[in-house]
Amino acid sequence: MANINQFDIELISNLNEKRVWAFIPEFFNRNPQYCGCKNCILDIAALALNSVVPCYQVGDEDIEAARRKVSDEDIYRAIVKAAEQVNKVPHHN
Ligand SMILES: [Zn+2]
Repeated sequence: MANINQFDIELISNLNEKRVWAFIPEFFNRNPQYCGCKNCILDIAALALNSVVPCYQVGDEDIEAARRKVSDEDIYRAIVKAAEQVNKVPHHN
């Protein structure tokens, strides 16, 4: 349990963040030409997450509510765009 003031902040989650992470393995399966090192994956996730509006929910997750606002295709496109950017200027060694 993680609290800020008296609030258990772990009860609030950004469902779209989970969706981005869920699509990343599929992205690399389809696009093995991109570097999948830890640095690049974190950079791709951060960039993608900055471009996807959050969908905060409390308690039970309602994936359909999240999909009505941001489709699976939108999530996937954000990852593709982020990977292209990271590929141009990678931060790995
Ligand atoms: Zn890399």
